[in-house]
Amino acid sequence: MYYFDYTATTKPKEEILNLYNKISNEYWFNSETLYNLGKRSNDLITKSTSVILNSLNMHNKKVLFTSGATEANNTAIYSVCNQYLTNPKHIITTYVEHSSVLNVYKDLEARGFKVTYLIPDSQGLINISDLENSITPDTCLVSIMWVNNVMGTIEPIDKIIPIIKKHKRIKFHVDATQGLTKIKPNFNFDDIDFITCSSHKLEGLKGSGALIYNANMFISFMHGGHQQEGMRPGTCDVAGIACLAKAIQLSNSNLDERYSYVNNLYKFLINELDQIDFLHVNRCINYYSPYIISITFKSLKGETALHALEKDEIIVGTGSACNSKTNKKESTLDFVLPPTLNPINSIRISLSYHTTMDEVTYLINKIKELGKL
Ligand code: PMP
Repeated sequence: MYYFDYTATTKPKEEILNLYNKISNEYWFNSETLYNLGKRSNDLITKSTSVILNSLNMHNKKVLFTSGATEANNTAIYSVCNQYLTNPKHIITTYVEHSSVLNVYKDLEARGFKVTYLIPDSQGLINISDLENSITPDTCLVSIMWVNNVMGTIEPIDKIIPIIKKHKRIKFHVDATQGLTKIKPNFNFDDIDFITCSSHKLEGLKGSGALIYNANMFISFMHGGHQQEGMRPGTCDVAGIACLAKAIQLSNSNLDERYSYVNNLYKFLINELDQIDFLHVNRCINYYSPYIISITFKSLKGETALHALEKDEIIVGTGSACNSKTNKKESTLDFVLPPTLNPINSIRISLSYHTTMDEVTYLINKIKELGKL
């Protein structure tokens, strides 16, 4: 198999699976119990929290363990907005967000919140002045992702932070799922109120992620027992938490080396793809993640390309699911593509430090053959 869908998910690392097994065997006691064995489980959660924060060089932050990035995104947004349900405020996001942000904003819009959706340019970048101009005295939350999961554009979080800092009442949430431990941040995580991450994107496990948030903030989302300070009640998945910490630590400690390796593959691949006349490469020239590449065929459905490549054992993803029937612009590629191209004709190729040059060459040759379809 030639796997090129690392943005969708990664295979858990052997080391992580072994760790899961070990912790599940040795630390299976409920971390909320008063006896020593339970306390040991709780200590392991505390240790995992420190590993995450130290690895990511975050200070004055807390970690809320969740079932993944979707839950983390929902938690961040509702924890700010739930307090204004009777007096809905103004909230800002972008059209390039993952559905676990975009659909929460739509829900809040239906409940009376005023929502500004920032529109990306043809490279998937949001405009800083648009953000600045959209802020009102009523704005309480801004959610902007770091690395876009459809085409890899890196949003200007470094330029957004000083704008938000001018308005003390505004909370800032960043979905960092595709950036964390892969891209070196050119900003300080301490300047962000909520940061979302997910384990299975980093060779960790499905069903495990975190919302990293400012220590002075209270998140009230669910009701139940006292686990995680009552903010996300339910018996903690100690093994999943320890594995998330391990995944972050391992991935982050190899960030630079993996980035430069993947960036070389990316440049080679982009150069080859640019020469194929029946497709268009959707990319941001200066602010890109080399892990994610989006292409749109001039006259071939993404799904058809995906299945044709699958016959040659190549696994790629499709681009964003556009709403071509209603002509409603709803996701990244709907905004980024020129009108002559249809988002439904897109596929997403994602790379990893596991990807080899031979695999990339094989992929290019098979993509060239798609021209005959
Ligand atoms: N945000 C982004 C940017 C993502 O790429 C994904 C996964 N596709 C998610 C959120 C949701 O992640 P999870 O599967 O952990 O809920």
